[in-house]
Amino acid sequence: MKTGETPTFAPRNTTETRPPRRGPLLDVHAHIAVVGAGVFGGWTALWLLRSGFRVTLVDAWGPGHSRASSGDETRVIRSTYGANETYFDLNVRALQLWQEHQQRWHKKLFFNTGVLWFCYEDSPAMIADTLPFMQKHGLEYQYFSRKEAAQRYPHINTEDLQNLVLDPHGGYLKAREGCQAVHEAFVSEGGTYLNALVKPDTIDNERLASVKLSDGSTLQADVFVFACGSWLGQLFSEVLGGVISCTKQEAYYLGVPATHTRLFDEMPVWVDLDGEDFYYGIPGNAYRGFKIGVDKRGETFDPTHSERLPHPAVLQKARDFMAHRFPALKNAPLVENRVCPYENSPDGNFILDTHPEADNCWFLGGGSGHGYKHGPALGELAADVIAGKRNLENLFRMR
Ligand SMILES: Cc1cc2nc3c(=O)[nH]c(=O)nc-3n(C[C@H](O)[C@H](O)[C@H](O)COP(=O)(O)OP(=O)(O)OC[C@H]3O[C@@H](n4cnc5c(N)ncnc54)[C@H](O)[C@@H]3O)c2cc1C
Repeated sequence: MKTGETPTFAPRNTTETRPPRRGPLLDVHAHIAVVGAGVFGGWTALWLLRSGFRVTLVDAWGPGHSRASSGDETRVIRSTYGANETYFDLNVRALQLWQEHQQRWHKKLFFNTGVLWFCYEDSPAMIADTLPFMQKHGLEYQYFSRKEAAQRYPHINTEDLQNLVLDPHGGYLKAREGCQAVHEAFVSEGGTYLNALVKPDTIDNERLASVKLSDGSTLQADVFVFACGSWLGQLFSEVLGGVISCTKQEAYYLGVPATHTRLFDEMPVWVDLDGEDFYYGIPGNAYRGFKIGVDKRGETFDPTHSERLPHPAVLQKARDFMAHRFPALKNAPLVENRVCPYENSPDGNFILDTHPEADNCWFLGGGSGHGYKHGPALGELAADVIAGKRNLENLFRMR
C-alpha cells in the first residue's frame, strides 16, 4: 500500500470486555416483522421463516431498488479481510450459501472470477494477516511478480506495483438480482411481504408493540428487526443518528475498446491497495462495461432525496487512475454510472443489537461498504441471535 493506511473496507478489530449477552428464547409462534428488504433484511427474514416463525417483511420501495445499497448490478465477494477472522469465517459460510442457493433457485448469482490484489509493497498487511485463516481452511493465494503479471495481464500497467496476488476463491455477486431472488424465495416459502414505508410507534414499557405503515394501517408484532441500511440513522436518530452515517459512493462503467473486450471481460475482480482511494473493479458482468468503484468515503448523502449524479471531480480522478493502471482505457467513454449510499458504522463493523430501551426492537445494519457478500451468512447468524439461540456477536454490538 502506498501510504500504509488501513483500507476503509477492512473493519477494525475490537477487544470486547463486556460479558456475553443473549436475548430471550422466542416462542415459536412469535410474529417477527423485518423492515428493509435489502440483502441484510431479506436474508434475515428468510432464515427466521425457516426457523418456524411467522415473518412479515416490509420495504418502502422493494427488494434491491435503485436507492438501496444493495441495488447496484454487482458486488465483490472476497475472503481477504486482514487480521479479522470473524469476517473471514462469515465470508466462507456466505460463499457456501450463495453457491447452494443459486443451485436451489436455478439462478446464477455468484461468478467465481477470483480477486486480484494490486500491491505496492511485498507483503501488505491485508494479505499477510489473512494468510493464517486461508491456510486453516485449505485455501491458497497465487502470487505473481511484476513481470509474471505483465505477461498474464498485458492490459494492466504494473510498473509501480511490487506484485499482484490472486485470491482464486472470490469473485462477484449479482446484487439487485440476489435481493429479488431472496424475496421470491421468502414469499414462496410462506412469508408475507408488504410494500410500505414504516414509522416506529413509541416504545412503552420497554417494548415496541407496533409500527405505522404508509397506507395508514398499523402493524403489530412480537419482535421488530430494522434492517434499514442508510435510513437507520434517520429512523432512530436519537439512538443511531451519531452511529450510522451515509455517504455518497460512485461506480462507473467504462466502455472498453473492441480490440480489448476479452482481455477486460475475462480478468478477475481487482482491488488497488493505493492507500487512498482504494479503487476496485468488476469486469465483464453482462456486457455492461468495465466497472470501477471508489471506496474512499464521499460527501454526506440523503438516501431518499439526493440525486444520483456523479461528482465531476471524483469521476475525473477515477478516469486519471484508470488511464494510468489500464492504459487502453485512457479515452474510454462512460457508458453507465451508479451512485449508491454507504451506511457507515463508526469502525466499519456491522451492527446487530437491540434498542437500548426495548429488547424486542433489533437493529441490523452498518454494512459500511462491505456488507453485501455476507448477506446469507449474516442473516443466518442474525436469525439465531434474534431467536435467542445464540449470544450476540461481540464485534457487532453497539459501542
Ligand atoms: C457503491 C457501493 C459499493 C459496494 N461494494 C460492495 C462490495 O463490493 N462487496 C460487498 O460485500 N459490499 C459492498 N457494498 C456494501 C453493500 O452493498 C451494503 O453493505 C449492503 O448492500 C447493505 O444492505 P442493507 O440491506 O443493510 O441495506 P439496503 O440495501 O440499503 O436495504 C435497506 C432497505 O431498507 C428499506 N427501508 C429503509 N427505511 C425504511 C422504512 N422506514 N420503511 C420501509 N423500508 C425501509 C429500504 O427501502 C431498503 O430497501 C457496497 C456499497 C456501495 C454503496
